[in-house]
Amino acid sequence: MNNPTGIDYLLELNTRHSRAFMDVSSERRRYRGEHPTEIAALKCMDGRLHLPVITQTALGIIQPFRNLGGKFDLGWPFFQSILDQWVQYSISRGRHCLVFVTYHYARGDNHRGCRGFNYETDDAKDAAFRLKNQFDRVYGKGAVVPIVCGIETDLDALILHGEDDLSVVDLANIKQSSQLLLEEMLNSLYPSMPERIIRDMIPLLLGNISHIAEIRATNRPVADVEHKEWVLGVGRGFDWLHEINTAFIVGPFDPNLSATIETAAKLLLSNIDEGRIDPNGVVLMTSAVYRDEAGPEYQLAREKALFLRKFTHDIIKERVPNLVPHLQILTGFSDLDTRKFEVIERLDAVPSVKKKDKAA
Ligand SMILES: [Zn+2]
Repeated sequence: MNNPTGIDYLLELNTRHSRAFMDVSSERRRYRGEHPTEIAALKCMDGRLHLPVITQTALGIIQPFRNLGGKFDLGWPFFQSILDQWVQYSISRGRHCLVFVTYHYARGDNHRGCRGFNYETDDAKDAAFRLKNQFDRVYGKGAVVPIVCGIETDLDALILHGEDDLSVVDLANIKQSSQLLLEEMLNSLYPSMPERIIRDMIPLLLGNISHIAEIRATNRPVADVEHKEWVLGVGRGFDWLHEINTAFIVGPFDPNLSATIETAAKLLLSNIDEGRIDPNGVVLMTSAVYRDEAGPEYQLAREKALFLRKFTHDIIKERVPNLVPHLQILTGFSDLDTRKFEVIERLDAVPSVKKKDKAA
């Protein structure tokens, strides 16, 4: 219970992340010049799945989409429109798209796996294959290439599933890591993958192989996955909130959003009821993103964050009322170019000392 909690901690974490994000902006530009493939990762909100760290890649290269349990469906109206915008943007710039469709597990213990799938790794994997097949049906074989990728969190190893759905390579088993050997391996796993994507995947694999070696060399203890999440995050723009045991993140993608929010709220309440977290440090945080400060996009993001706060709060009041007295509120939005979170609304304290700061 000694972990830091509360709104100030979150804002400080964001400040640090935003600074780190901007510090690598020239590295990111250089990298993009050399490796133009646009990369997205669909993944669970679990804080351990930090792909820039796992692949030793600059922040902002891999575009994350996060949701409770890593569940997505290309039939979801909002999700398909966001994803297709990303695809169309990439294609308009003449770039390929690589989509990591991920699931996660831990090789040492099922119970360090995905809580969103009740620790059933096969179910999580099946869902990933279904989603990958959906991508194949929609985008065909061409500029958009989905691959199923497991993330094994004891060693942070990527598990690559080949396009025949049968062959598998666990990067924890790859000792030699020359460019040429990896290229051969990728060619045999993904015979129809464009050469450009193969070349742009290799740095991620090299990064992962060297990250795994570091984990082994330092004998990192396996992550403590006793659930201690104390934040319920709803919306987008949570790249910076990647700490273990910190947040349940619900993307705005699922049309059945209220059910997902209810599930996350119940998990949060159980963390309080079972004494795993400080009941006075619990935060409901909603967030939206924008890129263009001058236009309506900025104002729309603001409205969206405020709407999501009210929407989420109403659902919790109705369905998980015992959580309400514990909630501190943080509402805001982030500039995608800086990852800086701007506060619109914050309500810090316990209800008896209601204090509302309008910081925007
Ligand atoms: Zn998970």
